[in-house]
Amino acid sequence: MNIVLMGCPGAGKGTQSAKLQEELKLKHISTGDVLRTEIASGSELGKKIAGIINAGNLVPDELMISMLENIVKSTDAGIIFDGFPRTVAQAEALNAMLKRFHREISAVIMINLPESEVVKRITSRRQCKKCGAIVHVDPAAPATVCPDCGGELYTRADDTAERAKHRLEVYHHDTLPVKTFYQNSGKYVEINGNQTPEKVFEDLVAVLKKVK
Ligand code: AMP
Repeated sequence: MNIVLMGCPGAGKGTQSAKLQEELKLKHISTGDVLRTEIASGSELGKKIAGIINAGNLVPDELMISMLENIVKSTDAGIIFDGFPRTVAQAEALNAMLKRFHREISAVIMINLPESEVVKRITSRRQCKKCGAIVHVDPAAPATVCPDCGGELYTRADDTAERAKHRLEVYHHDTLPVKTFYQNSGKYVEINGNQTPEKVFEDLVAVLKKVK
């Protein structure tokens, strides 16, 4: 089973992918995490990528597609694509790539979130340096350690209110057309992301039970 998880920034793609990976034993590929790992390596490429990500812009399609292809060809497991495709060119490349590897997309799930929630969610978001967990804190009294493992929590450089608004604009301009690309594929489903993570997960699992 290969799943594309879509949604605006802050919709819960990362949180839900981590839960799905565990439940369905799939490989979770978060292109955002792949890019952040490259940045952390301190490479020249990482430095270029950091400038793009921190400004809230998209990394060029060509680079994203070749990075993704290297990961896809290294695994036989079913995959959850989290954060890819973000452009129609990436969606077309993903179809072609999967076809080459004799695979196909089983479902494209859009996690819907009202725009009024996006900035609120993004600015309260922290990530654990140790286990990668995504945590939402009270901005007035922010927690500093991960409730799961006690690791240090950090705020992503692109998670400020200003960057969140810009990322939403980029989402509208470049990523929403991907929804149109998949809408008539017979594999596209929307779920309500404005619920507790547990309820969103329940809805996701219910959708996936109907997928072959
Ligand atoms: P995410 O962790 O999915 O929120 O991604 C963080 C940032 O990484 C995005 O705002 C983009 O700058 C970059 N990024 C992640 N995935 C892609 C992609 N498929 N195409 C282009 N840029 C991406």
